Amino acid sequence: MEDLERKEPWWADGLRFECLGCGRCCRGEPGAIWFTEREEKVLAQRLSLSPDEFRRRFVTSRYGRPSISERPNGECSLLDGDKGRCTVYAVRPLQCRLFPFWPSLLESPEAWEEGSHRCPGMNQGRLRPSWLIERLLKASPFPEL
Ligand code: SF4
Repeated sequence: MEDLERKEPWWADGLRFECLGCGRCCRGEPGAIWFTEREEKVLAQRLSLSPDEFRRRFVTSRYGRPSISERPNGECSLLDGDKGRCTVYAVRPLQCRLFPFWPSLLESPEAWEEGSHRCPGMNQGRLRPSWLIERLLKASPFPEL
């Protein structure tokens, strides 16, 4: 009975998303790019830096957690600004990989719509089925994001 009454999420029919590679999600308004301890180690290794040096050069704090810092122009400090490419793409934090399937953007159609004004890939391209969205949501290491 309880199962029958469970409300379907607003994205039950799936959502379209295809990254267009514009790099806008790595620029603009400051945001929180959180990472786990393991991800931090991997990022530092990738850049041939000690964890301390990595923290000194690339980490700030957002909402009480360590977060990748931004340059004064709003770019992620790990972005190659000229090429518009992530310098650690292969080992980027899971939070970046999951975008735009973040709890905060999936909270409501309005939040998703608002996000699509900043990311032109949202509502475009392949339809991502609800089972996949559910899986991505569960994978988020930061459910409050
Ligand atoms: S803003 Fe959207 S389309 Fe542009 S790079 Fe980021 S995820 Fe891809």
